[in-house]
Amino acid sequence: VDGSPNQVIWKFNSKGGFTTKFVYEWLEKDLSGPDYKLIWKAKIPLKIKIFLWQLFQNAIPTRDNLRKRNWPGNPTCSFCHDIETADHLFFGCVF
Ligand SMILES: [Zn+2]
Repeated sequence: VDGSPNQVIWKFNSKGGFTTKFVYEWLEKDLSGPDYKLIWKAKIPLKIKIFLWQLFQNAIPTRDNLRKRNWPGNPTCSFCHDIETADHLFFGCVF
């Protein structure tokens, strides 16, 4: 507005005000999406929760992931001839 001084605003807050509480909540939201809350709140053993979390992060040592770390082995599935990915192993493989 003409005549009013320039003002610094924090664009991630609808009211434009910066608060550490808001930043903390914003960071928390990005770190644990709803998919992970579903896992962590499930009434299943902790080792299964950790396994599912790794699966969603694509951090299971499937052959395609091992190849990314220069593992020299065969990247195909032990049961069929497709490339072994987490998606293939748990959802796509016919066996
Ligand atoms: Zn397969």
